[in-house]
Amino acid sequence: MIVILPYESAVEQVDALVEDLPMECRPAEPVSDIKQMYNDKRDQYNTRGYVRHCSRAARTEGHLVLGVTGVDLFSAGHDFVFGSAQVGGHGGVISIYRLGEGEELRERMLKEAIHEIGHIVGLTHCDDSSCVMFFSNTLVETDNKSDGYCAECQKEYEELKLERIN
Ligand SMILES: [Zn+2]
Ligand SMILES: [Zn+2]
Repeated sequence: MIVILPYESAVEQVDALVEDLPMECRPAEPVSDIKQMYNDKRDQYNTRGYVRHCSRAARTEGHLVLGVTGVDLFSAGHDFVFGSAQVGGHGGVISIYRLGEGEELRERMLKEAIHEIGHIVGLTHCDDSSCVMFFSNTLVETDNKSDGYCAECQKEYEELKLERIN
């Protein structure tokens, strides 16, 4: 089971994501966005605090946690990120801020979520640009990849899943 944690800025999108995700998951109670992670010079939120918060929530929930926020996230070395997670950790987060709207938003959100869940479970980036574990920092790259793991990543996911997902 993967717990999907809605931050208040993305609360309306989470039901669609839970419906679309191919892995067993359930939504948690919505929580406030993390005001302390706001950087007023950048007008963005630091993703590190979100990942930390989701990792802590994972302990309470007893399951791996993916947060979904609507605020614009940055991390060191990047102007923005679509998401972030601790590889082989317990939590990660995605932001829908830059993902557009409607059907496009729904598809991109699904890809970013499957990507970050892959990281939480223990997968690293994949060189195959059609694999969902390919690193994407533009919408074109996100749109060009599929919403599934390539054969190699899928195999690794299935193995890791046995020990990482309860
Ligand atoms: Zn990644
Ligand atoms: Zn792959």
